[in-house]
Amino acid sequence: MRASVRQQIRRLQRAILLLCIAFVAPVACAKAVDSCPVEKGVTLQILGSGGPIADDGRASAGYLVWVDGESKVMIDTGGGTFLRFGEAGAKFASLDFIGLSHFHTDHSADLPALLKSGYFSDRQRSLIVAGPDASAPFPGLATYLDSMLAKPNGAYAYLSGYLDGTGGLPNIEPFEVEKDKSAAVTVFGEEDGEMQISALHVPHGIVPALAFRVRIGAASVVFASDQNGDDPAFVEFAKNATILVMHMPVPEGVSGAGRKLHAPPSVIGSIAQQAGVGTLVLSHLMARSLKNLDNHVEIVKANYDGRVIVANDLDCITLKK
Ligand SMILES: [Zn+2]
Repeated sequence: MRASVRQQIRRLQRAILLLCIAFVAPVACAKAVDSCPVEKGVTLQILGSGGPIADDGRASAGYLVWVDGESKVMIDTGGGTFLRFGEAGAKFASLDFIGLSHFHTDHSADLPALLKSGYFSDRQRSLIVAGPDASAPFPGLATYLDSMLAKPNGAYAYLSGYLDGTGGLPNIEPFEVEKDKSAAVTVFGEEDGEMQISALHVPHGIVPALAFRVRIGAASVVFASDQNGDDPAFVEFAKNATILVMHMPVPEGVSGAGRKLHAPPSVIGSIAQQAGVGTLVLSHLMARSLKNLDNHVEIVKANYDGRVIVANDLDCITLKK
């Protein structure tokens, strides 16, 4: 879509939102309205708010954290986020960190496309990429990167410079997070530094998966990733976050494999409440959770007292100015 058309659509969406706030129940209208991104301060931007099926008009999972107008952190690179990354005006050269929560395609498939895009940037400095360790049939981060980039058998071995710094490409510094149920691991920065990012393994069926906490100054945003919400360690990890992004691909009452992989709306609300977060963002929406969306949001709100925002692609939410 051309940028001018997209801007017109966004203006229309905002006008509808104002009407909504004035005349309709707020639950139906909960939406981010902040400008994208703020020049001074910290902004969360949704790149992909959809799921793994190409039927929801949304990109798969992906998020940016902007700091003082620069795209510093990217969490997840699901299908479609490559396009949204460009639409957002993000720059590969500005990224300090990419976090891959897990190796389902809807969280990781656009990474090689972003790396190829980065080939055309003037980036020289290395890039830290964090992801989980292996558990069959899922690879760990190092194997995942090798399967794409390593000579001679990687699918995109022509980009192998990302592994060894040759060909004018910046080095990827992989940080593979081992599974340890009790501990969060710092994957970027220092505890007393301006920006620190930590990761924690979360329960997502048999899939090794990471939540990330990005702290900039006193503000923090927690990305829950796909998880079933059953591990109390995550509540501690998300404690007092400025914003918590949780994934809501399944409706209330889900059972079987869906429940082993994902948290239903009541569990999402309960986690946000226990963690005492300031704002809860509901993302990774699928047709089955978009159907009766207001109902699901009401269930979340019945369990959580704070502000709830339903994510849309390219929305921005300001953490601090
Ligand atoms: Zn998943």
